[in-house]
Amino acid sequence: MSLTLRPHPPKTDGARRFLEGGAKPVLIGAEWSVLEQQFETWDPATGQHLASLSRAGAAEADAAVAAAQAALEGPDWAGMLPAARQALLWKIADLIDAHAEELSELESLDQGKTYATARFAEIPASAAQFRYYAGLATKIHGQTITPSIGYAPKGKQVMAYTRPEPIGVVAAITPWNSPMLMASMKLAPALCAGCTVVLKPAEETSLTAIRLVELMQEAGLPAGVVNLLTGHGHEVGDALAKHPGVAKVAFTGSTEVGRILLNSARGNLKKLTLELGGKSPAIVMPDADLSLSVPGVARGIFANSGQVCVAGSRIYVHRSVHDRFCEGLAAEATRLKLGHGLDPESDLGPLVSEAQAARVARYVDGGRAEGAEVIAGGAHLGGAFYAPTVVTHTRPDMALMREEIFGPVTAVTPFDSPEEVLALANDTEYGLAASVWTQDLSSAHRLAAGIRAGTVWVNCHSYFSPELPKGGIKASGWGVENNLAGLSNYLEEKTVCMVI
Ligand code: ADP
Repeated sequence: MSLTLRPHPPKTDGARRFLEGGAKPVLIGAEWSVLEQQFETWDPATGQHLASLSRAGAAEADAAVAAAQAALEGPDWAGMLPAARQALLWKIADLIDAHAEELSELESLDQGKTYATARFAEIPASAAQFRYYAGLATKIHGQTITPSIGYAPKGKQVMAYTRPEPIGVVAAITPWNSPMLMASMKLAPALCAGCTVVLKPAEETSLTAIRLVELMQEAGLPAGVVNLLTGHGHEVGDALAKHPGVAKVAFTGSTEVGRILLNSARGNLKKLTLELGGKSPAIVMPDADLSLSVPGVARGIFANSGQVCVAGSRIYVHRSVHDRFCEGLAAEATRLKLGHGLDPESDLGPLVSEAQAARVARYVDGGRAEGAEVIAGGAHLGGAFYAPTVVTHTRPDMALMREEIFGPVTAVTPFDSPEEVLALANDTEYGLAASVWTQDLSSAHRLAAGIRAGTVWVNCHSYFSPELPKGGIKASGWGVENNLAGLSNYLEEKTVCMVI
């Protein structure tokens, strides 16, 4: 089977106007400008050209960091009272909601995801980030401390207090899987903390970042607080990651680039938060309710065509229910209808690019050559489309089982005991997430404690909310996003100690 698709023009005036508006600019300070150097972005479902984008490099990185530094200290931002910052963040959320249809269309066209995924999950979740951190903007407080060691001269006292201060200029470097949400997860806490930002979206999917920054300006964000540079990772991304004026890099992307960033950041010892790859297990215990776990595990891998860092790409099923589970999962995979993201009939869209589909195919073909059995899918359907795929009879040393595929491919392996499944689940360099499917409380808590991962879900997979800390351990990253803990990555605490 091969998919041939007709173009799906957007329905909203906003998305249409945006796409017809010519080459897209960068934002440095208050100035939007279209650069001479450009690159292109395409609809991955049809290969249709969507827009030309400005290709920023080191010179633009210098200018954007300078603008962000000036804004960091400028009275409009540094002097803005917490309640005003709260109102601003809330207004950004309202504007995202008001433009949700247009943003969803752009996200679907540029990334390939279905309109429903954007409209009912990721765009509202982006607004939720701004609302959550709006609430926290008025709750950033230090401590007052009475030190126990008293070096004070006779008759004097020692007292101290702390000041949580914005860390400085943040370079936010984001990936292509959930572009608007990933950008919001960095912008909202950074602005809450009083930082300024240079945003560098993924080159494959920059459109919603541009619209988001336009909306932030419309909300009244002072000039220079958020700057936007589109361009390539090894050019402008690298320049930002090495820039001495950048205090922190907030990154989501591959473990490979995460490792590069460690080096790039060393010059001025930048702080880093790294949300990296995963190879997340889903564990189905013998007592699991299959009517919930089969579709739940299927969503955990196939949502967004598997281009989700926490995708459940290794499924371990108790031998007593293994065959029934495989049958159910293969049926779920086969049932999913692939098509254009803007076609309401589509359950899944294409991958982000033809190159990504070819990469996925290499993993599946490699596994097949080594003896894995494909029980659903296993076909490159042309262009950027790859069929939802379930494989069995894998070995733990296969690339398919060890490396992040970032596509709709999962492997099912049987197990016999909780000890065995824990060892299998933890047999990975990654530690991002996992899910456990069971009705038994003891199993749930014991496995949740034993799995080495940043998040463990029980009877669900890929459940996110701004309140829930999200981060990886081992090669899945450093630091967390979301929650108060996520905010603390954008603050540094100064201690003021005095003799009075
Ligand atoms: P993915 O696997 O999601 O494509 P990547 O890690 O390749 O993720 O890219 C994530 C983001 O990192 C993108 O915005 C990309 O442009 C950027 N990037 C890639 N290489 C570098 C680099 N050497 N320095 C800084 N940023 C980079």
